[in-house]
Amino acid sequence: MKRLDRRALLGIGMTSQRRRDRLVERLRAAGIRDPRVLEVMRVMPRHLFVDEALADRAYEDCALPIGYGQTISQPYIVARMTELVLGDPAQPEPKKVLEIGTGSGYQAAVLAMLVEAVYTVERLEALYQRARERFAALRLRNVYLRHGDGAEGWPEHAPYDAILITAATERPPPALVEQLAAGGRMVLPLGAPGAGQRLTVLSKRPDGTLEATEHEPVVFVPFVPGRD
Ligand code: SAH
Repeated sequence: MKRLDRRALLGIGMTSQRRRDRLVERLRAAGIRDPRVLEVMRVMPRHLFVDEALADRAYEDCALPIGYGQTISQPYIVARMTELVLGDPAQPEPKKVLEIGTGSGYQAAVLAMLVEAVYTVERLEALYQRARERFAALRLRNVYLRHGDGAEGWPEHAPYDAILITAATERPPPALVEQLAAGGRMVLPLGAPGAGQRLTVLSKRPDGTLEATEHEPVVFVPFVPGRD
C-alpha cells in the first residue's frame, strides 16, 4: 500500500482537527486569552511545518527540531508572542509586521491570518527555501520572505507596526529599533548568553525612546549575525 493511502486509512488527516482542538484547550488553560489567537491556533496545520517523521508530535505543546540546529517554537510561545504582537484588543491591530527568524514559517503563517502583511527574514537559506514552499502550498499571499541577516531588518518596507524576533539576543539590533514605527512594539526574547531570557515587549514612544515590559522566562535559540 502506498504511504499516503496508509496515512489516510489511519485517519491521520482526520484526527488533526481533534488534536488541534485539544491543543487549544491546553493553550487556554495555560493562560492564552485572545480569542483571535486561539481561533488561528485551532485551524493552522502545524504538522505541515515539521518533517513528516515528527508530524505525529505536531500538536504536543513543545518545540521540535527543524534541522540545522534550529527549532519550531512551542505552540504556547507562538500564541503568547502573537498575543503580545496584537496587543490590547481595544486598540487598532498592527497592519504591517516584521518577523526575524522565519525558521519553519509557522509563526509567520499564524500572524498572516491576523494582520495585513507579514515580512519575515531568515539567515539560513535551506530553511528560507522550505518556508517559501510551505507558504506557497498554503496559498498565504500576504507573507513576504527574505534570505538575509535579520540584524539589518528589511528597510524597504519600514516602518513596521510591530516587529518580533524569534531568536534570543542581549539587546535589539539598532536597525530594527529604527524600522519600528513610533507607537509600535517589538516582541523578543531578551537575555545575555548563558543568563536567562525573558519574553519582553519594547514599546516605542513618540519621541523614539523604548519602554520595556518583561514577561515570562523563555528558551530560544540564539540570534546569529550574518547569513548562511
Ligand atoms: N519563528 C520560527 C522559529 C524560529 S527558530 C518558527 O515559527 O518556526 C529561530 C530562527 O531564527 C532560526 O531559523 C534561525 O536560523 C533564525 N535566525 C537566527 N539569527 C538570525 C538572524 N540574524 N537573521 C535571520 N534569522 C536568524
